[in-house]
Amino acid sequence: MINIYAFNRRFPDDDACLEYIKNKLYPDGIYCKNCKRVTKHHKLKSRPSYSCDYCGHHIYPAANTIFYKSSTPLRYWFYAFYLMDDTRCRISVRQLQKELGVTYKTAWRMFHKIKEEGSLRNLREGGN
Ligand SMILES: [Zn+2]
Repeated sequence: MINIYAFNRRFPDDDACLEYIKNKLYPDGIYCKNCKRVTKHHKLKSRPSYSCDYCGHHIYPAANTIFYKSSTPLRYWFYAFYLMDDTRCRISVRQLQKELGVTYKTAWRMFHKIKEEGSLRNLREGGN
C-alpha cells in the first residue's frame, strides 16, 4: 500500500507537483519562444507558471496536460495517480472519491483521465 508519509515528503505542495510536471515535459530545460533558445526559468510565487529569467515570458507546464483547466489541486491528482498505480486501477471511483474527499463527478473524471494516462511517469504533453 502507498506510504502517505513518503508521498507527503515527495510532494509537500502543489509547487512540488508542478516542478515534477515541468521536469517531465521539459527534461532538457524550457525553450523560450521569445528568446528562441532554452533559458533559465524561475517559478512565480502567485501563479502555477514559470517565467523566463531574460524576457519574462510565462509558461504554464500543466496547461498542456490532463491537468488542464482542472480546479482540483495538483496534489489530489498526484495522490490519485499514486493510489491507482499502486492498486493497478482496481480501486473504484467510489474508493477514489472517499480517499480524496471530492465529489463523485470529480472522482469519475480523474479516474478515467488517469486510466488513460497510465502513470505519472508517462506524463506527456497533449493529454488534455
Ligand atoms: Zn525568454
